[in-house]
Amino acid sequence: MGGLATALRLRHAGFAVTVLERQERLGGRSNVIEENGFRVDTGPTILVMKDTFAELYRAVGQDLDERLCFTRLDPNYRIYFHDGSHLDLFNNMAHLAAEVERIEPGASARLFEFIGASARKYRLGMPFVTRNFDHLTDLMNPLTLWHLFQTQSYLRLYSQVGRYFRSDKLRKAFSFHSMFLGLSPFAAPAIYSLITYADLVLGMWYPKGGIYSIVEDMAALAQEMGVELRTNAAVEEICIEGGQARGVRLVSGEQLRADLVISNADLPYTYQKLIPAPHRRQYTDARLARLDYACSGYLLYLGLDRVYEGMQHQALYFSEDYRGTLEAIFKTKTLPLEPSFHLNTPTVTDPSLAPPGHSLLYVLAPMPNLDGSPVDWETAAPLVREQLLTRLEQIVSPDLRQHIVWERQWTPLDFQTRLNAVHGTAFGSLAQGFFQSAYFRPHNKARDIKGLYFVGQGTYPGIGMPMVLISSRLVTERIVQEWR
Ligand SMILES: Cc1cc2nc3c(=O)[nH]c(=O)nc-3n(C[C@H](O)[C@H](O)[C@H](O)COP(=O)(O)OP(=O)(O)OC[C@H]3O[C@@H](n4cnc5c(N)ncnc54)[C@H](O)[C@@H]3O)c2cc1C
Repeated sequence: MGGLATALRLRHAGFAVTVLERQERLGGRSNVIEENGFRVDTGPTILVMKDTFAELYRAVGQDLDERLCFTRLDPNYRIYFHDGSHLDLFNNMAHLAAEVERIEPGASARLFEFIGASARKYRLGMPFVTRNFDHLTDLMNPLTLWHLFQTQSYLRLYSQVGRYFRSDKLRKAFSFHSMFLGLSPFAAPAIYSLITYADLVLGMWYPKGGIYSIVEDMAALAQEMGVELRTNAAVEEICIEGGQARGVRLVSGEQLRADLVISNADLPYTYQKLIPAPHRRQYTDARLARLDYACSGYLLYLGLDRVYEGMQHQALYFSEDYRGTLEAIFKTKTLPLEPSFHLNTPTVTDPSLAPPGHSLLYVLAPMPNLDGSPVDWETAAPLVREQLLTRLEQIVSPDLRQHIVWERQWTPLDFQTRLNAVHGTAFGSLAQGFFQSAYFRPHNKARDIKGLYFVGQGTYPGIGMPMVLISSRLVTERIVQEWR
């Protein structure tokens, strides 16, 4: 998505652009499976900060809402708890307050204090999300340190949420968002409640046809604008001559000359595999090994020959031992005893994704990445599948298994082999702790190789579709400024 967005912007600015994708379909992590009449998004399904998509389209002279049809979701999520209860996270504030009161009487006033504090973090944090960094002082200066201190953004997310809510259920419900950045809420800095704000207040959207319809439209637009799109075109090496990127060599042996090269592949992979070692002074293998990698995930996609009433489009299940689950994923790198998961039922909003009378379920359980993990996915995958189906029988319906007519799964090994994701990370390669964010995240311009740039989740601002679209704007601004 970062590569496509950059291609659109640079073409609009007058550059001749070729996009090279190793897979047979464009989209990368934002991909799709179309089989047996089912069309399921394989990666992202939660679209927040819709304005970042609208900005991309505007920047290339287009109107997002004229090309695609969006529905706003409310509630954003239904959260299921281990005891069978649930909570709906509405973005209608009156409804949300009533839900919060139902779980913890008297907590609605503190809900609004929490949202106010999160809005403040959003307002103070966004200027650091939407800019390029050249100097440490772009991030660390007396004013930002004062804001950090004032908003106590340096605290851990879960413990700061705990200052507003006593109930464990509400603490989970208002802190899980850091998982989208591949970070445990017990380790993530509290600044990330800005994502909770973006999600709850700015709203969550669904494009008709699923997230992949955005990728398809971006690809169609790229073609209309004259970008050359090549799939099944794996890059083997970025060609460097005299300290300058001069093009790429494909696995097929074909060489393409270019004035500049932008890598949207995982940034650690790009350094490790596409740049010959003598040119890698900044990111050596030793330095790449020391970086903190985000988590991975196990995904189960199910096509059902019936529709279950009463489901919400987006849902989450939190296991009883939430902390234990997160420790397994991030610390011991083992299988969680009982996985928490994201349950997406897109056919609630868009029945066209399945044959008539059928429906789709998408289950995403965060899992440890492959870095030092003892998990053998050949044996683990059937066990995790079984755990998830058993829980789905309680949440969805006891007869669920009898109605599965189509099924696919992804494990961390798929992320590694299909996407070249180092250590099989799912949402993005590098975890977004403080020292891997903003100025401290790998920059979008290689320091030691002229004409080589980066876009996507591996550089700043980071993980997730809106961030990747912002990264395409930042790298384009840099390139246009340097190359005009
Ligand atoms: C299961 C899952 C759920 C997610 N949920 C959400 C969500 O709900 N909301 C959200 O906003 N984000 C979500 N994300 C995160 C989001 O999808 C990613 O952060 C974002 O799409 C990354 O985009 P990118 O542009 O950085 O590149 P990527 O999607 O990582 O694409 C990189 C591309 O480079 C290609 N490539 C690699 N090596 C080569 C090579 N040698 N030659 C040519 N091509 C190569 C790959 O095939 C791939 O197509 C999710 C991700 C996953 C996997």
